[in-house]
Amino acid sequence: MSQNKYPKKITSETVFLPKTIESHGFVSGRMKTGTPPRVDGRSLNFDVMEEQPGDERPGTFSYLAQTNKLRTQRSCHITYTSEQVHDELRLGFDRSPMFNGRIQSVGPRYCPSIEDKIHRFSEKSRHQIFVEPEGWNTVEVYVNGFSTSLPQEIQYKALKKVIGFEKVKFFRPGYAIEYDYFQPTQLKHNLETKILKNLFFAGQINGTTGYEEAAAQGIMAGINANLKLKDADPFVLNRDEAYIGVLIDDLVLKGTEEPYRMFTSRAEYRTLLRQDNADLRLTSLGHELGLADEDRLAAVNRKVEHTALLKDFYTKTSVLPEEANPFLEAKNSSPMRQSDKMIKIYSRPGIDLNDMRKLTAVSDFIAQHEINQDVQEQVEVQIKYSGYIEKERLNADKLNRLEAVNIPASFDYDILASLSYEAKEKLNKIKPQTISQASRISGIKPSDISVLLVKLGR
Ligand SMILES: Cc1cc2nc3c(=O)[nH]c(=O)nc-3n(C[C@H](O)[C@H](O)[C@H](O)COP(=O)(O)OP(=O)(O)OC[C@H]3O[C@@H](n4cnc5c(N)ncnc54)[C@H](O)[C@@H]3O)c2cc1C
Repeated sequence: MSQNKYPKKITSETVFLPKTIESHGFVSGRMKTGTPPRVDGRSLNFDVMEEQPGDERPGTFSYLAQTNKLRTQRSCHITYTSEQVHDELRLGFDRSPMFNGRIQSVGPRYCPSIEDKIHRFSEKSRHQIFVEPEGWNTVEVYVNGFSTSLPQEIQYKALKKVIGFEKVKFFRPGYAIEYDYFQPTQLKHNLETKILKNLFFAGQINGTTGYEEAAAQGIMAGINANLKLKDADPFVLNRDEAYIGVLIDDLVLKGTEEPYRMFTSRAEYRTLLRQDNADLRLTSLGHELGLADEDRLAAVNRKVEHTALLKDFYTKTSVLPEEANPFLEAKNSSPMRQSDKMIKIYSRPGIDLNDMRKLTAVSDFIAQHEINQDVQEQVEVQIKYSGYIEKERLNADKLNRLEAVNIPASFDYDILASLSYEAKEKLNKIKPQTISQASRISGIKPSDISVLLVKLGR
């Protein structure tokens, strides 16, 4: 490929990718996002800031044993802006692309720039700043909460007025950018575009923001492009199976007008989608796709077996009052009068794994079967939250039954007189594949779903 294929300067000959995509009928939009300045940690006075130590028991991203848990961590610190800082920042407002109209697109509401915060929450005299080290082998610090597109000298003067930043040295100033996106309602659940066959979209182009959101869609689009090549069925995760399922379902059925971030609050089945059971939920699916090897599947199967074994032990084994009362009393839990099943004791508020391990029968069983900490914690979650987990499972199963009611691609919504105009417009635009998908489109009412169910003979 010749080097001069890509023009260095924008000329009248330059072909813009978004324009090419639009020419096929895709609807596009603009979004914006920004970032704070990066500063030299050696120039900051951490003694006058509030220390925020890391998690006492830091987790890992992976379940694989080769991922070592962190043993030492670097602290973050908290400091605050002030009226003086805000006054300094206001001096640059007329030169901010966000305020003078050069940038008009929508930014993430949940992480606004510092100038946005001062403008929108003018009654607040200070805003919190998290001072975060960028890594072990760098002195660079991320000034979280101070995202800005104001001129560099304004950023610098304002930041110098923040407690602990009086002698701050900049590595890089903050800045903001605008980007194109394509309304994700133009995608199918496998992330293939509805307009152009075999074209898959993933990431920021779909209106999301965030590294994890982009990565999650990237792997799903990759898997589905590969499945399409093999003429296999698409791989779609349900909302009760994974956050990825919630993310894609939200994008495809609801679209987005602002940068979309995957908040846990967007998932109605949060109790089922826990980080402690991601391996139990997804490894076998990954294995079927050829993405998780035999060892990985075997490790998960072992976890499943051990979890069932230990849970069964707690369910069937009794405990005597004299064994449990010492730790029950220490936790202000009413003492036992007669022997009872361990699971009953474990279910009590405040009684945890450490207490249960004080029972000789428990510690012996764990040692004898070599049950690891992860499994012990998994059993604890399953016992403590069993009521909530079962209720959510029932709700999810009920809705999943609607997932089995397919809507034919040729279905004519316009002939249904009792369907509202808004419902017809939305259903025609999104073209849901199942009744369950139709029910999740914003603006579609339960009465519309009843009309569809009757028409489909249900
Ligand atoms: C300033 C800023 C700060 C951010 N801060 C954070 C943060 O702190 N945390 C967070 O989670 N997220 C943050 N984000 C968001 C995050 O970076 C993006 O959402 C994510 O990187 C999007 O990933 P992507 O793969 O969709 O797109 P990109 O990472 O943008 O990848 C697209 C790739 O396509 C290439 N490309 C474009 N056109 C062509 C072409 N015609 N031919 C070939 N290649 C092409 C580009 O060069 C690029 O490498 C930030 C974004 C910005 C802009």
